[in-house]
Amino acid sequence: MGANTRFDRLSDFERHKANVRVECICGHRGILDAVKLRRWFFCHRWSDAVEVLGAHLRCSVCLGRPVRVRPTVERPDRPEWMMHEHDWKRLIQRLRN
Ligand SMILES: [Zn+2]
Repeated sequence: MGANTRFDRLSDFERHKANVRVECICGHRGILDAVKLRRWFFCHRWSDAVEVLGAHLRCSVCLGRPVRVRPTVERPDRPEWMMHEHDWKRLIQRLRN
């Protein structure tokens, strides 16, 4: 990742094969799969702009909003999240109702 690389949208993370590291004020941090996160936002029709990402994410420990979002080469810490195609089918069905 070059110094000039910008990470303004989830598509930037995906293009640079980076994952998304989110940090909470409580000290908890999570690593999210950028490809799945982008699809998740797309399904919800949310903007994938990094500056508004935090409005749709919550800390699994304190339920706070992330204070910092940045690219990482670390592996996702919940690889089982939305792993199967039927997870996505279920999500889309739920969003339709
Ligand atoms: Zn927290």
